[in-house]
Amino acid sequence: MFSQFALHERLLKAVAELKFVEPTPVQAAAIPLALQGRDLRVTAQTGSGKTAAFVLPMLNRLVDLKQKRVEIRALVLLPTRELAQQTLKEVERFSQFTFIKAGLITGGEDFKEQAAMLRKVPDVLIGTPGRLLEQLNAGNLHLEHVQVIVLDEADRMLDMGFAEDVERLCNECPNREQTMLFSATTGGAGLRDMIGKVLKTPEHLMLNSVSQLAEGTRQQIITADHNQHKEQIIQWLLENETYDKAIIFTNTRVMADRIYGHLVAKDYKAFVLHGDKDQKDRKLAIERLKQGGAKILVATDVAARGLDVDGLDLVINFDMPRSGDEYVHRIGRTGRAGNEGLAVSLICHGDWNLMSSIERYLKQSFERRVIKEVKGTYTGPKKVKASGKAAGVKKKKTDKKGDKKVVAKRKPTAKPKPNAPLASADGLAPLKRRKPAPAAE
Ligand code: AMP
Repeated sequence: MFSQFALHERLLKAVAELKFVEPTPVQAAAIPLALQGRDLRVTAQTGSGKTAAFVLPMLNRLVDLKQKRVEIRALVLLPTRELAQQTLKEVERFSQFTFIKAGLITGGEDFKEQAAMLRKVPDVLIGTPGRLLEQLNAGNLHLEHVQVIVLDEADRMLDMGFAEDVERLCNECPNREQTMLFSATTGGAGLRDMIGKVLKTPEHLMLNSVSQLAEGTRQQIITADHNQHKEQIIQWLLENETYDKAIIFTNTRVMADRIYGHLVAKDYKAFVLHGDKDQKDRKLAIERLKQGGAKILVATDVAARGLDVDGLDLVINFDMPRSGDEYVHRIGRTGRAGNEGLAVSLICHGDWNLMSSIERYLKQSFERRVIKEVKGTYTGPKKVKASGKAAGVKKKKTDKKGDKKVVAKRKPTAKPKPNAPLASADGLAPLKRRKPAPAAE
């Protein structure tokens, strides 16, 4: 029960109004500590209720402020516009019976209008680091009275190259009393570095290990021969699966546009979301999906980050994500708040090893599914190593006449150490280090 928390009655009233009855595990763990003013580092999956876990204690700190509103008291940093907009809505819903006002600063919106909003000085400011810094540099933003900072989806902010911006914004808040950092994954060295710089002796709450992240979601793979074959499988799934709303992930904008074009040509109500789309298109896509006007969204990772759309119960990975963490983020869109979901990854020859490293990272084995109506010829590697990866097949090189060529033996590569981890601890696929992935928004 939420009444177990020492929350102000106006906030409890809002919680009741929103029909939140039982706190989720992250709320049960984080709210009491956050109310004590502790710095927190919370590892919790998308869809676990983590927004309320920081918003409620943050508002509780501000709800009794008697002074006239003259200063920004709380700052929430998030990686994307959509996530920032959703968080603003959550703050507004929880503060509906208080005098607390919240403001939003993200890229893609009018700079001058934002400056005018800042002149009215909201109590809580929510935004993405890039535009907040621009407003700061223009002299429109004053953060010296900020008491609490929240870094949400901190791992993702680092992925997107916001580390310096986040640090700079934190340094602009020298009088802050509390910092709370949330991430869906335990992150890597970059995250550890940020934690060391911005948090003071934080309490680390690990709400779920990566292997539990997608409990409510069935995870399947279907092998495919090539991209065209993948498109046929997608069409079959969209026609035959029972789903309320579906999201199809691609790694590039070009592929997202291509799939979207094919779906529209076949009369599907679909939308596409990627970094080339302007803010208006992005808002429209999300609204249509929320209201049910469109059932299918084709998106790249960055664009779809933090989407919280009810009834999103089918995720299709047209391309395998580049890392285990990214897979977790994508699948986090289904099975939210205890609902069932289905995640299907389409695996060509070139995707196999990446898929198997993600399986090892998650310590899960994806269900192998065959759809006889769209069955191809590729069914996975002929031989797999103990790791699950394809065992190398030695190519016999031939010269133009068809004679076998003598191939010089390659130097043996170093043997892996017996205790070497199967997948890197930060969830990166061992094949490729994570890059900010310029084409992915
Ligand atoms: P979040 O992880 O914060 O994005 O939350 C995921 C979804 O769960 C949002 O739609 C929340 O409104 C909803 N939610 C969060 N906490 C609760 C709760 N205690 N009871 C019911 N729904 C909740």
